[in-house]
Amino acid sequence: MNLQQILTKHPNSNKIDCFDLVKGDIPDPSLLTEEQVIVQTKYISIDATNKVWISGVKTYMEPIKIGEVMKGLAVGEVVYSKSQTLKLGDLVLGLLTWQLYGVFHSSQLKKVPKEYPHHQHFVGLLGISGLTAYIGLKEVGEVKEGDTLVVSAAAGAVGELVVQFGKLMGAKVVGLAGSEEKCKYVEQLGAEYCINYKKEDIFEALKKHCSKGVDVYFDNVGGEILETVINFMNIKGRIALCGAISEYGDVTSKNKYGIKNLSSLIGKRIKMQGFIMSDYAAKFDEIGKIILGYLQTGKITFKEDITDGLENAPKALEKLLNGENNGKTIIRIVGEKANLYDK
Ligand code: NDP
Repeated sequence: MNLQQILTKHPNSNKIDCFDLVKGDIPDPSLLTEEQVIVQTKYISIDATNKVWISGVKTYMEPIKIGEVMKGLAVGEVVYSKSQTLKLGDLVLGLLTWQLYGVFHSSQLKKVPKEYPHHQHFVGLLGISGLTAYIGLKEVGEVKEGDTLVVSAAAGAVGELVVQFGKLMGAKVVGLAGSEEKCKYVEQLGAEYCINYKKEDIFEALKKHCSKGVDVYFDNVGGEILETVINFMNIKGRIALCGAISEYGDVTSKNKYGIKNLSSLIGKRIKMQGFIMSDYAAKFDEIGKIILGYLQTGKITFKEDITDGLENAPKALEKLLNGENNGKTIIRIVGEKANLYDK
């Protein structure tokens, strides 16, 4: 039996009650064309940007339409193959779907090493979170030794790696997170200080803990926090716009937070650049090796927030948007390996 999460409406708040879990048949192997494979989903990455995809607004990719199965970065196993390049049992990564079994063309999938013991890392540490953190810091933020680096959502999947990579690149790191417990974790990772943005006065805290100003701001949240950090940017500072989670609740709203101090970027010659990690695909293998090296030599750690069951994917997204996740949010699908060759 197949299970699919089907979009039923475009939500305009962080309440994710917009999916139906629908039962259906496993794709029929006899209908596959050349180079198509059936993939059994294993680990799905739950990402803040999933909320943007279901909001009905065209961004860097087409929005998910009502009645369509939800898309998601995921790792899975090939359980039927009509491909010359992918064979039965291969582990693959790609933009899959929130369903147990899906049909994909081999060109949509990247084979990843099955012998690596932590398959969930391909959607987090060695996948979207690690690559985004590294690209944002190196390619966009151009972090260098001695810089003061500020990162928001610092206890989250991307943020916790920005803190650690930033330290390894020689920066002094100050984080922002939404609870005492999260701030403690960020400081354990090596941040000089973590501001509890829900309790502290952010302006005063930045003044105190970034006394030499901010050279790089890695922005995961947008809105008021971005505006406040801009006040502390040094001349020739860099702002890497990675995400704007504070604005994902209703992406269609015209009443978004308006940043009032953008003109200060001119005199200070500040570079502020948005980026999407997939634009840097040519560098993924090289960066993946660096991150794996950091992990294997004990230089970094990574928290994962794993929930079992496709039925829990919408709730996991809602938790992430509300700051109730604790590390990289992943849905694990446990199930016996399908044998479709018997069909
Ligand atoms: P996280 O694991 O960091 O989870 C999101 C966190 O954001 C929450 O735990 C919460 O932490 C914080 N948050 C939620 N609402 C607000 C708010 N209103 N103000 C401040 N913080 C808030 O998610 P990811 O690491 O997966 O993603 C982090 C950011 O990176 C997102 O904006 C995402 O869209 C972006 N991203 C961008 C990519 C790109 O290619 N540009 C790729 C991947 C992710 P807290 O309790 O601290 O508030």
